[in-house]
Amino acid sequence: MPKVVKALETKPKPVVIWLEFQDCAGCSESFIRSTSLLPTEVLLEFISLEYHETLMAPSGDYAEESKREAIEKYKGKYILVVEGSVTPNGVYCTVGGRSNYELLKEAAENAAFVVSVGSCASWGGIPKASPNPTGAVPVYEVIKDKTVVNVPGCPPIGDVLVATIVHYLALGKLPPLDGLGRPKTFYGETIHDRCYRRAFYNAGKFAESFDDEKARKGYCLYKLGCKGPITRNACPTIRWNGSLSFPIQSGHPCFGCSEPDFWDRGFIYKPLSVVEEGIS
Ligand code: SF4
Ligand code: SF4
Repeated sequence: MPKVVKALETKPKPVVIWLEFQDCAGCSESFIRSTSLLPTEVLLEFISLEYHETLMAPSGDYAEESKREAIEKYKGKYILVVEGSVTPNGVYCTVGGRSNYELLKEAAENAAFVVSVGSCASWGGIPKASPNPTGAVPVYEVIKDKTVVNVPGCPPIGDVLVATIVHYLALGKLPPLDGLGRPKTFYGETIHDRCYRRAFYNAGKFAESFDDEKARKGYCLYKLGCKGPITRNACPTIRWNGSLSFPIQSGHPCFGCSEPDFWDRGFIYKPLSVVEEGIS
């Protein structure tokens, strides 16, 4: 921890260029609501956010010009964060008259590394859901010559992105990643592994309907469609809204938003056994 504090106090702020493609800006919302640092700290003191369409002051040509300048000035040093899926066909989602594919390639070329923030950028997300009308793909399918860190979730926990950047700043390297490019610290275990309702699962005690007496007693939400057993994320430990709660704690099953193709896995309230067996 002292090493991290010292790095935050003494090292130059990491430069971040943040691109938004086929997204809803929910990942940006989550990021600026990170509770490990206040939004103002994140944006004004902790990182140098050179380009972010939703948060930056300039617009139009001025915005695009500031991005070009940042890419040139911080060549090889900036962190490229991408929110939203990509459409390599060049038809959908243009910014300043240029395709998202072209913009991604251009910005990634001189980045230190790329972070796909959210399930849309990491896996294609909702835009890629069947029948995938725009031909959406995740960032890692386009950028193959550079490390792409996946921070999935819909949206992801803002603190996870902050921690990933802080790790890089403090130690000069990325945190250990799993086989799908996710930081192991946050995605190393399933929701089920860390769930406080797990003892009830092990004992075969399940809630039968939303907010019934069993659910309120803390019984497992498996029968209500919980996807915690197949979902890797840190919701049970970091939680949301200043560590106040997370979906399962609020009585709602996890629907696996941080896993690839979660939207196409079947009705979100079907028990996992039914979905996995393909029974509809
Ligand atoms: S991952 Fe979810 S919150 Fe983030 S841009 Fe996609 S739909 Fe929005
Ligand atoms: S509520 Fe979900 S994550 Fe928690 S023990 Fe039950 S199945 Fe596992």
